[in-house]
Amino acid sequence: MSGAPPLRVGHGADVHAFAEGRRLVLGGVAIPHPRGLAGHSDADVVSHAIGNAALGAAALGDLGRHFPDTDPAWKNVSSLDLLARVREKVRAAGWRIAQVDATVMAQAPRLGPFLPEMTARLARALDLPEGCVNVKAVTTERLGFVGREEGIEAHAVVLLAPVDDG
Ligand SMILES: [Zn+2]
Repeated sequence: MSGAPPLRVGHGADVHAFAEGRRLVLGGVAIPHPRGLAGHSDADVVSHAIGNAALGAAALGDLGRHFPDTDPAWKNVSSLDLLARVREKVRAAGWRIAQVDATVMAQAPRLGPFLPEMTARLARALDLPEGCVNVKAVTTERLGFVGREEGIEAHAVVLLAPVDDG
């Protein structure tokens, strides 16, 4: 690790459009709503933002590079499974995920009641204590594509520590 910084931080963002006939899965939790999100996997925009942040922190690119949507192996895959794979890729590069903070931007449905379960499932997938994972939800005050209920956006930051640090 000589010469390498003691910690790494990464940022991730993702957007998916609403689509008819799809389940809405956010942070690994199936949420009752008339529409879900379009995508090749389960379109879990929260998990994707976190995965992008973790890969970014380890300088490993992004989810699209590791799990291309041209590969049928990832069709309808659970994004929590992808996160567990991301955790292993990050670990193989010498880093462990130490902390996650995510924000999901959705005008509807109301996500507050689902945040504790999202946090629990994400923490399990990432092998982290729940106290090291945070998920927040905001509306955009009816502004923009989120406000028009055309889709959902998510952002995340992930902190990595060296594997041999604990
Ligand atoms: Zn995505």
